[in-house]
Amino acid sequence: MNKALEDGAFLRIESVVKEFGDFRAVDQVSLNVAKGEIFALLGSSGCGKSTLLRMLAGFETPTSGRIVLNGADLAGKPPYERPVNMMFQSYALFPHLTVWDNIAFGLRRDGLPRAEIAQRVEEMLRLTQLTKFGQRKPHQLSGGQQQRVALARSLAKRPQLLLLDEPLGALDKKLREATQIELVNIIEQVGVTCVMVTHDQEEAMTMASRIAVMSEGRFVQVGSPADIYETPTTCFVADFIGNVNLTPGRITVDEADHVHIECADFTHYVGHGVTGYLGQAVTVAVRPEKISLSADQPPGPMNQVQGTVKEMSYFGDTTLYHLELASGARLKVTFENDTRNHEGAPTWGDRVWAHWLPSSQVVLTQ
Ligand code: ATP
Repeated sequence: MNKALEDGAFLRIESVVKEFGDFRAVDQVSLNVAKGEIFALLGSSGCGKSTLLRMLAGFETPTSGRIVLNGADLAGKPPYERPVNMMFQSYALFPHLTVWDNIAFGLRRDGLPRAEIAQRVEEMLRLTQLTKFGQRKPHQLSGGQQQRVALARSLAKRPQLLLLDEPLGALDKKLREATQIELVNIIEQVGVTCVMVTHDQEEAMTMASRIAVMSEGRFVQVGSPADIYETPTTCFVADFIGNVNLTPGRITVDEADHVHIECADFTHYVGHGVTGYLGQAVTVAVRPEKISLSADQPPGPMNQVQGTVKEMSYFGDTTLYHLELASGARLKVTFENDTRNHEGAPTWGDRVWAHWLPSSQVVLTQ
């Protein structure tokens, strides 16, 4: 658990349910978020992540459960009375107002003194590196700059909780990657607690300190990006985050009492730490980059299997190989390209050995 959570959560979501008629969009969700944390709700379309975000903002009312922010129960509080601000994917900037006036808009509505408004707007312009764009209209800005104006406007009111709804969805891939880091830097400088919604696992992994993977209104797994990537607890999570090989098998033991997983093409040696009963159906998850390739059979208690190279996708620094195994199943392997020595790389039709350490795989029972 992270330090801030031990000291008490800043945002508490307690057994929250949201039903639309007889359909449950959010199903008994509980979560603690620490002060200053950037937390991501990650899931595919329809999993309930936006509904949960909208309940935090006050645009939807929970059917049951509680949301507590900085010790205060938010029940019955309309959006404008919450110390919460939401930044939408569309940015929702006013097209007829300058950048300066867009940022000042909420502060004027709240009746802040003019000098205070000017000071906060200038501070936000500086923070988002938009000082020289203050007098421009939104249509005179790039997509990335518009996104920063939207962020500046959301932060100007100094909310206790910032909500980001697919914050970078409108940007192209290259700009999105650069902006992810910029956005995190700004949020961290302000120190605001942030909950974001995304269906893009890379975005969640890059920006958030912790992620909740959602499916059908529930949290399937909550953890740091590394936890979720390295030790997924279900096949759904393993498959949703990154590339993975999922191989079905059954738990067996050999004469020396070593636990193995018996699969169609090979036997996984799993060492310690597998809980289950003999004959239990399990799935072995191995990331492609944990697998090595060699022309010769490797020695030792490795998990290994021979296959034929059927497909190769070249990405520059790496190549993703698809090996066909004896049963016809495919195994994905990421091979790090040595650009100084192309000779060593396997090619189409080659018979190769794929092998990986028992500690590089996860055995899943659901
Ligand atoms: P997306 O990424 O597509 O926005 P999401 O994970 O954010 O998806 P939600 O918008 O939270 O999903 O919707 C969750 C489910 O609740 C969906 O099946 C949706 O159709 C349903 N839903 C959302 N709002 C309402 C509503 N006002 N009335 C009825 N059903 C709704």
